[in-house]
Amino acid sequence: MHGHLFHKNHASDKFYEIYAKLIAKQMNLSIEQVRERVIPMLWACDINAHVEAMDEAGIDKAVVMAVDWGMNEDVGEAPWSIEEINKQVYEQVKEYPDKIHALCAVDPRRGEKAIQLVEKAVQEWDMKGVKFHPTAGYYPDDPAFYPLYEKCVELDIPLCSHTAATINAPFMSKFANPIYLDTVAAKFPDLKILMIHFGSLSYTMNCVEIMACRPNVHTEFSGYQAHATTMPDYFLKTLRYILDAPTLIGPPIREKLMFGTDWPYLETIMDQKTWVEWFNNIPQLAETLNIKFKQREIKYILAKNAEKFFNLK
Ligand SMILES: [Zn+2]
Repeated sequence: MHGHLFHKNHASDKFYEIYAKLIAKQMNLSIEQVRERVIPMLWACDINAHVEAMDEAGIDKAVVMAVDWGMNEDVGEAPWSIEEINKQVYEQVKEYPDKIHALCAVDPRRGEKAIQLVEKAVQEWDMKGVKFHPTAGYYPDDPAFYPLYEKCVELDIPLCSHTAATINAPFMSKFANPIYLDTVAAKFPDLKILMIHFGSLSYTMNCVEIMACRPNVHTEFSGYQAHATTMPDYFLKTLRYILDAPTLIGPPIREKLMFGTDWPYLETIMDQKTWVEWFNNIPQLAETLNIKFKQREIKYILAKNAEKFFNLK
């Protein structure tokens, strides 16, 4: 769950300008070095690079997406329209029908256009859901977006929304608080919702609590490579607690968690191949902490839960 396909025309020049400044600071490079070396690497992340990285990591199936940043007033629209961006993703993904599936990235503030795009993406391009990045400047529980949610229910596709703090100024973490998805889950009990990044560090338990109360809310783990790298003990103890946490209604939490990578982001923290191996090895890794995991639990998180959620079989 959760990989990206890029193209230069997926974002505005302003976006890359801001991104270059941020990465230069983070990696201790000059802005020119980032512009010349790092950003072109991002643009090169097309379907061929994605498939190569999947094969190397032993990943059989992936769900990929673009991101709709265009409505954020500080970065502005990309050279391609959001329809062109999603179509370009579809045209790459269609070459791998059983291996790679796509989500339709759209900002719900696009209103009627967003609804029409989602309909087309699902009916003509076989896209498997909608992807939001609310940090671009909106709360997902805005009643103005309810017609889009009604459309998702009608099309039987999930809403997948980012729920983690962001380093990527000018995007704002406050919009990523999963509590706003709880409102959507309550108003639309037939809408399947995926909390992307499992709330990262700050919102994890909030996500657990929401899943315990809302049968239609699920989550995926991309971003936790950072936790696995820097605080593996905390990660393993927390994961055990989460898998055992009681739900008040609906399926158990262990059936609602999905493995994710956010490729190619986070490759510098832990590459995708290592992350897959690390996750697969959890039963052995946890033995040293005297915590027990069944290989079957890991298998469900790595594959089965996502296949069921996205109707991939
Ligand atoms: Zn992502």
